[in-house]
Amino acid sequence: MIWIADQLVSEGPGGVYGERIIQGYRLWSPRRSKLSALYHLGKGIELESHHRVLYLGAANGTTVSHVADYVEVVYAVEPAPRPMQDLMVVARRRKNIIPLMADARKPERYIPLVEHVDIIYQDVAQPDQAEILAANVRFLASGGVMVFMLKPRSIDVTSTPAEVAVSVQKSLSNRGIRTDECIWLSPYYPDHAALICRQD
Ligand code: SAM
Repeated sequence: MIWIADQLVSEGPGGVYGERIIQGYRLWSPRRSKLSALYHLGKGIELESHHRVLYLGAANGTTVSHVADYVEVVYAVEPAPRPMQDLMVVARRRKNIIPLMADARKPERYIPLVEHVDIIYQDVAQPDQAEILAANVRFLASGGVMVFMLKPRSIDVTSTPAEVAVSVQKSLSNRGIRTDECIWLSPYYPDHAALICRQD
């Protein structure tokens, strides 16, 4: 990852969402992206130029654009028409973002379009987050890693975030997905966690 002093940056065409440019690099703020927050907390997977990434919950391409600055290709799945319009604009300026307008619950819709990937990144904030991840494991290459941004409040507001995180890890485990680490994203995103997962 590229750091300038204590700030995470990426190298690519700027002006995607009004991000600051520092010494020619795009500032990747931990306040605008959970993935950046994870890196700022000293965790996260080193993104490399040969990596292929399946990104579930691409939204308008803020984080996608930074990931694309580092890796070979990003398959960016987003079902909502409005953010998809913005994502298309972002993808037009880069050669390595493949926007897929689809529901990640139905991966069969994009199976013909997506290769095996090194990293699955998921940020969908849905009650069935764990099931969505499990449905997409088929795309992970052997030895690959999943970075699952968990929003416990989208799953259950009656239990504590920590309890929900434990139950999600159990549910993933029942589906053959092992959680190696659970990192809470405070102070950037209170009550959000990043689960670093691998196939059992
Ligand atoms: N990852 C984005 C970023 O950092 O720039 C922000 C993602 S936003 C919190 C969640 C996104 O997930 C929304 O754009 C939403 O439309 C999308 N989403 C919700 N359900 C989804 C599903 N079933 N499949 C794929 N994406 C979904």
